[in-house]
Amino acid sequence: MKHTDIYEVLNKQDLVGSETVVCGWVRTFRDSAQVAFLELSDGTSFPRLQVVIDKNALSVDPECTKLGASVAVRGEVVKAFKGEGNELNAKEISLLGKCPPEYPIQKKRTTLEFLRTIPHLRLRTNTFAAVFRVRSVAAQAIHRFFHERRYYYMNTPLITASDCEGAGEMFRVTTQPWNAACKTEEEYYKNDFFGVKAGLSVSGQLEGEIAATAVGKIYTFGPSFRAENSNTTRHLAEFWHVEPEIAFAELPDVIEVAEELLKYLINAVLTECPDEIKFFDSFVEKGLIEKLTHVATSDFAVCEYTKAIEILEKENSRFEFPVKWGSDLQSEHEKFLTEQVFQRPVFVTNYPKEIKSFYMKQNPDGKTVAATDLLVPGIGEIIGGSEREADYEKLLSAMKERNMDLSAYKQYLDLRVFGSVPHGGFGLGFERFVMYVTGMENIRDVILLPRWTKNIM
Ligand code: ATP
Ligand code: MN
Repeated sequence: MKHTDIYEVLNKQDLVGSETVVCGWVRTFRDSAQVAFLELSDGTSFPRLQVVIDKNALSVDPECTKLGASVAVRGEVVKAFKGEGNELNAKEISLLGKCPPEYPIQKKRTTLEFLRTIPHLRLRTNTFAAVFRVRSVAAQAIHRFFHERRYYYMNTPLITASDCEGAGEMFRVTTQPWNAACKTEEEYYKNDFFGVKAGLSVSGQLEGEIAATAVGKIYTFGPSFRAENSNTTRHLAEFWHVEPEIAFAELPDVIEVAEELLKYLINAVLTECPDEIKFFDSFVEKGLIEKLTHVATSDFAVCEYTKAIEILEKENSRFEFPVKWGSDLQSEHEKFLTEQVFQRPVFVTNYPKEIKSFYMKQNPDGKTVAATDLLVPGIGEIIGGSEREADYEKLLSAMKERNMDLSAYKQYLDLRVFGSVPHGGFGLGFERFVMYVTGMENIRDVILLPRWTKNIM
């Protein structure tokens, strides 16, 4: 259909005085004796376009004025009577699709919980339109950030046979019906599509290392799958994962890239989505703009795990799970550190090796590994990363300690045999980032169709 985007009609001064067609959905209708006003949105602009109807000159099909109806309007672009931008003086309004009164998105503000029950319609609200504009802008900025720095964009497999990291959290991939006759797991999977047990990847990191140890700097940006039973506001069964992997990098370099990326993304969203961020600041998280501006311009904190435990131990009485050296940090501890102690994003570094993965670089103290989690107020962990163990013997012994099946990791070990280099990387949960910049408190509200336990709408 030949028509002009509302964004252009609103903002382009040289369109004033010309005639054009816009298409959109009716967001409000106001009527008076002589004139009526339709507000339309077509997704290209957060502010809507006001269509002015001179009732003496034009009679309008009532169906065209119903909330949610889709219409095409031919009219003249004029400077807005009030405020900035342009509006449209209607000459002809035609109905594209009518919208009956049982339309569940009504003008009165509904709850996010209710909207979660109609995920196919919730994008027609201001809140969700804004969330997905921000999400899209942030995704573009991720690609731009890495592209400008000469990282390769790699696509790692989603189906994988390695279940080291995801043991227990891995979704299985199979074409086989249930077969009770098999005596062992191996026998069962032998007849399966791949001939071995396969699953959906929980992370592209191990494959990312293959690329980084050949072409230097890479990143992946795709879905990861985790069958975690935790019914939280921060976990999805299917989420989008940004995973840079960098050769010739040690833990401080990894931290530097993570901080730079986060600031770059925040700036991109602030500059490219001013209307949306203003909306979130007013209706979702008061003070959001100040928070983001502050974060984008100040240094993140860095704190050793051991030091973090010292701080937390003094506060043990306030926690559901008291901590001591060796404890995994729970969400309550992460939030306390970033919200109360540091009051800004903080990288916690050098965790006990027992609570982290086999591939992380072992520190000289023999007790900790060169891992880092970035914790941010309101969310807790947003990034998890590490320097990887580049020493063949040390990696092998860490795998043996964990009784891992070494034959499955021949390729991974090979990367330490042929020209091994210090390298590292991190994983940023894309939805957690979108939560952080929009102030949305539930991860289910920042992805189109969220998947979690017992929910696959
Ligand atoms: P958490 O402790 O919060 O469960 P994790 O330590 O299991 O996270 P990592 O394996 O370090 O997570 O993954 C890297 C990043 O991916 C996390 O920092 C987080 O932002 C994101 N992430 C991890 N699991 C999920 C999930 N189930 N849903 C959404 N994002 C996730
Ligand atoms: Mn983590």
